[in-house]
Amino acid sequence: MDLVRVESEPPVTARREPPQLVPSSACVRCDVCCRFPEADSFLRPYFTGEEITRAVAAGVDPACFPDPGGSQIALAKNPAGEGYLCPAFDPATNHCRIYDARPFDCRLYPLALMWDEAHQVVLLGWDSKCPFMVEAPPPAIARHAEDITALLATEPLLAALAAHPRLVGRFQDDVVVLRPLPALTARLKARARSRSVDPRLSPLTLSEAGRLTRALDQSGLLAADALAAYAFPYHAVWTSLLPYWWLERDQTLYLFAESADGMFMPLPPLGPRPLDRSVARAFDFMEEWNGSSPVSRIENVMTRQKDGLAPAGFSCTRKDGDYLYHAPALAALVGDRYKSQRALCNRAEREQAIELAAYTKDDQAECRGLYDRWSRQKAAGTLDAVAQLLLDDAQAAHRVVFAEAEPLGLTGLVARVEGSVAAYTFGYWLTPRTYCVLLEVADRTIPGLAQYLFRAACRGAVEQGAEYLNVMEDAGLPGLRAAKRAYHPAMMIDNWTLTRPT
Ligand code: SF4
Repeated sequence: MDLVRVESEPPVTARREPPQLVPSSACVRCDVCCRFPEADSFLRPYFTGEEITRAVAAGVDPACFPDPGGSQIALAKNPAGEGYLCPAFDPATNHCRIYDARPFDCRLYPLALMWDEAHQVVLLGWDSKCPFMVEAPPPAIARHAEDITALLATEPLLAALAAHPRLVGRFQDDVVVLRPLPALTARLKARARSRSVDPRLSPLTLSEAGRLTRALDQSGLLAADALAAYAFPYHAVWTSLLPYWWLERDQTLYLFAESADGMFMPLPPLGPRPLDRSVARAFDFMEEWNGSSPVSRIENVMTRQKDGLAPAGFSCTRKDGDYLYHAPALAALVGDRYKSQRALCNRAEREQAIELAAYTKDDQAECRGLYDRWSRQKAAGTLDAVAQLLLDDAQAAHRVVFAEAEPLGLTGLVARVEGSVAAYTFGYWLTPRTYCVLLEVADRTIPGLAQYLFRAACRGAVEQGAEYLNVMEDAGLPGLRAAKRAYHPAMMIDNWTLTRPT
């Protein structure tokens, strides 16, 4: 299969466009943009295939694009002086003749995407050649960069940039570095690797939600006591950090995740084949890629699957299990066993005017700000190295959630205190009766707010028919374990990791 075509370019119209920072009054006075010293300047704007179509429709000569699938525009000699001009530029008026159809590369400017000097990390920077950026107030640039960073973490743009890696330029020392872009770096590296990984593999992207969800529905595994991992969003939020791949054989879906050490399976194979046969085949695949490395494993195996696999010679190791609760009990918090949680909810209600609302994309910037505040509060506490690592990784996942909640199938709830977002939670339906809480963040300086929001999420889920609530595992963190136990789980769902002895 041609992997280049699997991750096809999303139409420009499906993407949100970068906001404009530089006012057009500044642009028309400037003599930098759209003009280049050499005919083959590496700073010439790059147009994707769709952008070429739009530019040609707006009047640019198709001959200006050596590759109609995507290329830098060919420059024209400046008729009135030195250097070269973009053929879409009108020097008489200092205007772009195709302004509404100009490409992403131009819309992003004066911000720029480039690799660092070692070509290891994609950076967002601002071009010091733009006179406006020298005068612009730093807070305005920082705010703009924050918005652009969020935009660059959205799936349509990640996919488009992966399909057109030349939109990320080489290092320029006159571009002031603003921040690294880990999600884009991971996507471009995965893209580069995809040319060397097994061509039978396809990347798991948002557009594959239906494929994985169908396989899960048909697996017969989705019951109240299923692990939270048996759902698309559980995996999709991590794909910006950990490339996921899939392949299908004999109506069985094999899902793989690629760590620095090699490939492993985050779920057992999903399909009608006898499980021991498809698991054996999965280990054959992984051994092809990993050799005899112990990285080859299958995670999130449930007890009912494990019991059938042990006789076939596979080894099973217990992992932290999921906490499953009776949802109505957590919505009501009645009785002595929930006395402390109830007291905290009451305190939050008494001391704060809390407004609850469903999450919308308009809350994105505030949620990002809250996450940063919350992680600083956590880091100021007694975090061990593992917890700090989880926190660092979680930031990328939270940002994916803010940007893609709806296509991921997530529902979100936001709590505002004095008009500002002070807590948020997101989750998904594992079955029509089981709601999974994927993530939760609450300002730690407001006593009881976390408990208040959790109860509100439980109440909302119960109103929509939830009988059970799965809050996933505790990652081995003692504080998290104590908090989850204090809510009195109805059961722990066992979780096993499977290996094949060599
Ligand atoms: S497309 Fe328009 S904005 Fe972009 S370089 Fe050409 S003239 Fe300038």
